[in-house]
Amino acid sequence: MWISIVSLFPEMFETVIKYGLINKSIKKKLLNISFWNPRNYMKNKFNKIDSTVYGGGGGVILKAEPLIETISKAKLEMKNNVKIIYLSPQGKKINISYIKKLLSYNKMIFLCGRYKGIDERIITNFVDEEVSIGDYILSGGELPAMILIDILVRQIPGVLNRISSNNTDSFFNNGLLGCPNYTRPRILKNLKENIVPKILLSGNHKKIKEWRLQQALGITWLKRPDLFKKKILTKKEKILFNKFKNSFLKKNNVMEYD
Ligand code: SAM
Repeated sequence: MWISIVSLFPEMFETVIKYGLINKSIKKKLLNISFWNPRNYMKNKFNKIDSTVYGGGGGVILKAEPLIETISKAKLEMKNNVKIIYLSPQGKKINISYIKKLLSYNKMIFLCGRYKGIDERIITNFVDEEVSIGDYILSGGELPAMILIDILVRQIPGVLNRISSNNTDSFFNNGLLGCPNYTRPRILKNLKENIVPKILLSGNHKKIKEWRLQQALGITWLKRPDLFKKKILTKKEKILFNKFKNSFLKKNNVMEYD
């Protein structure tokens, strides 16, 4: 995958590309990231990169010409089949199915806005898709671009050591949240909740798998009822879930009213 970042602040990405899976995937040549600063593509270096909006009102936006120049230079280097993605609060909100679609694009230019955004004509003439990381406003597209890169990198085959560790993560776990995990030591001093479930120490992999599924069902029901409602349960899942639910209601002294 090749991602070109168009940003006024490429230095913001320096730390992110130095660590973790992003760094690993760059080293393994599974990901190539290049940076394009529109300031370097201004015909007249003394001009401003931004300007006030027509019609008045506060704030400035990034001017179109430097962005057009930068995008065309990046496209030229990346050659064919490049998708231009504008990180924008007005875009499609990221979810798993949208991530799968983005993964099918091997070459992308991530356009990071700043200030009050960018000249609308860039969006209408150049941008293929607008992507949002949520219903709130950030000061620039750089953090959303980093988030998107991190999400995508985890899905590139060969980046995660064991694909199973992704399949049991929340949302990728058949639409459920992930289950609780514990590690050494078995006993931590002075904690009220201090028990590692016995089943996890039993070595019985079938039972452990069943327990994990039951926990994932129960935790999704408790923490994300919206997700749980969407899930169609198999017969076995129904039995596991009902056991979880009944014991939860009993433990918490809750009566169920329908
Ligand atoms: N005036 C714009 C609007 O109302 O849609 C918001 C501009 S915002 C202050 C500046 C830049 O941050 C945007 O151009 C975009 O690149 C980025 N940005 C802000 N919030 C975002 C979000 N939720 N998702 C993705 N990008 C975002």
